[in-house]
Amino acid sequence: MCSHCEHNHNEHGHCEHNHSPKIIFKIAISVLLLIIFMVFSPEKIAGEKFSGAVKFLEFALCYIIVAKDIVQNAFKNILSKQLLDENFLMTIATVGAFGIGEYPEAVMVMVFYQIGELFNSFAVKKSRNSISELMKMNPEYANVVRDNLILKVHPSDVKTGEIIVVRPGEKIPLDGIVTEGFGSVDTSNLTGESIPKELAVGNEAVSGCINLNSVLKIKVTKEFKNSTVAKILEMVENAANKKAKTEKFITKFAKVYTPVVVTAAFLLAVLPLLFVGREPLVWFRRALIFLVISCPCALVISVPLGFFAGVGAASKKGILVKGSSCLETLSKAKIFVFDKTGTLTKGKFSVSKTVPASGINKDELLKYAAYAENYSNHPAAQAVKAAYIGEIDTSKIEDLKEYAGLGVCAKVFSKSVIIGNLKIMEEFNIKVEANNNVSGTVLYVALNNQYAGCIEISDSVKTNAKDTILNLKKFGVKTVMLTGDREFAAREIQAQTGIDEVYSNLLPNEKVEAVEKLMLSQKTGDTLVFTGDGINDAPVLSRADIGISMGKLGSDAAIEASDIVITDDNLAKIPEAMKISKKTLKIVKQNIVFALGTKVLFLVLGAFGAVTMWGAVFADVGVSILAVLNSLRMLYIKRM
Ligand code: ADP
Ligand code: MG
Repeated sequence: MCSHCEHNHNEHGHCEHNHSPKIIFKIAISVLLLIIFMVFSPEKIAGEKFSGAVKFLEFALCYIIVAKDIVQNAFKNILSKQLLDENFLMTIATVGAFGIGEYPEAVMVMVFYQIGELFNSFAVKKSRNSISELMKMNPEYANVVRDNLILKVHPSDVKTGEIIVVRPGEKIPLDGIVTEGFGSVDTSNLTGESIPKELAVGNEAVSGCINLNSVLKIKVTKEFKNSTVAKILEMVENAANKKAKTEKFITKFAKVYTPVVVTAAFLLAVLPLLFVGREPLVWFRRALIFLVISCPCALVISVPLGFFAGVGAASKKGILVKGSSCLETLSKAKIFVFDKTGTLTKGKFSVSKTVPASGINKDELLKYAAYAENYSNHPAAQAVKAAYIGEIDTSKIEDLKEYAGLGVCAKVFSKSVIIGNLKIMEEFNIKVEANNNVSGTVLYVALNNQYAGCIEISDSVKTNAKDTILNLKKFGVKTVMLTGDREFAAREIQAQTGIDEVYSNLLPNEKVEAVEKLMLSQKTGDTLVFTGDGINDAPVLSRADIGISMGKLGSDAAIEASDIVITDDNLAKIPEAMKISKKTLKIVKQNIVFALGTKVLFLVLGAFGAVTMWGAVFADVGVSILAVLNSLRMLYIKRM
């Protein structure tokens, strides 16, 4: 529960409401009164006789103004049997201080505590802002065309198949295909990059982008709840639910810690009396100071905040992290595994050679191939379709079957067509004629179970693949590539990128096995990251400790199976994510060590009477503020 209102905390442990003005007001009034009362001492006004009572009433008033909600919460928690939180610590410490006549100190303890809270709420707001910048992509309306009229409706009221109009400066509210118009859109909401993207008729328009300079008509292909925008927002909003181990540790820790310090304070007040037997007030006072020092606010605040800031810093760069636990796991990564096609390579194949067997010509071969590939999403299929000039009569395609990681079988013009890699040919017992003139990726074609030729397709390595691998190696990790392609093509990519190991000829399930083997080879605690483009690698994405999917914002399966989504297909974001995760963990650890260290030091000093009530307050607020500032450094991380 929020210490300032009736509302429950959200998943980040912070109240959704903005209490800053109210708290500032309370602090100001209380401090003002405190100063007035200290300057105009009651002796002068009320005379000697009543001064004690007046003084008490005056400071009690200040105390109530600033501390009412904290004391109330302490009582509420006791009633609901969750005593012993920081509200409770602060309350008994300050009420006790009143008891021994330290009125101004008691008030100031609460004032400082409230200042600490204030500071914390600023920090949370700051890091939440960077996440809500991303939320800006949430569209408020869509202009839908109905009966020749343009109506302004909520995006969720638009059905698939309807046409929407997006004017310059407006957000694209729903995913769809451009049917009219030509212009550029700003994808920075999604990707963190402010490079405009060109859109023309037939192109896919992704929701959340901002239309820059033209009127676009878009045919909606997905309902709002399945749109890219909705998926991403959902993912970011859920991010904090998956708590990191370190965070859970803190919650558990706080549960044990508070009873321990309360008991210690009690013993500190009572035990010396039994042995030393004198000056009960001295020890009572020390016990109270001990309690003020022990308040674990800094720790409880700064750890979740550190993670939260990390998630925020990442999303600012177009790296969507599904939870603080992912950042923690990523920071321990020792092996980075990549899929080849579409991940390390551009995934844009083009046909570079067509080699027909005897009895068939090039055009025929390409025609059968293109018909068979018509419904496939595989990059290889796109290449074949692009190379075939002519219409595809879909009524001539029957009995279609796609084998993930192998190829496709279909009946085309009543002839059976098999197209794919060498493995699928072996599977169907088709004898392939060896051909040394083809390199890279080769698709073999069989007609009526007879070898009919091959098609060489070529893809190119992403320009920053080499730098990415190099940057990752700086973290001391091993890099591995898995591919369903043949070894020749795999080795070529290895030579171009400098990746450590390659495994070729793998079916999707063999990719899972390869990843499992690599995971087994690791020391406990080390983790493995798999990066894929989401086309037939969802199983591996979810099997790896961390699955990163790239680029394919349209692919729901990939977004769901992965822990981190990179919103554009920029490989450089992977070392960047690694850097953010390492830095987050470093900051969180610094906070823990610093907060615990100062705590222990001051507790010991307090027990020996070397700290005053003022010192105790400064220690706690000071540590909280420094920890919060330290967490905020996360938001100013530099690019790699
Ligand atoms: P990668 O591991 O490189 O991402 P895939 O596992 O997607 O590759 O596919 C492995 C191989 O299977 C491809 O190189 C290609 O030869 C073949 N293949 C897969 N799908 C198809 C298809 N639809 N048409 C032709 N060949 C395919
Ligand atoms: Mg693939």
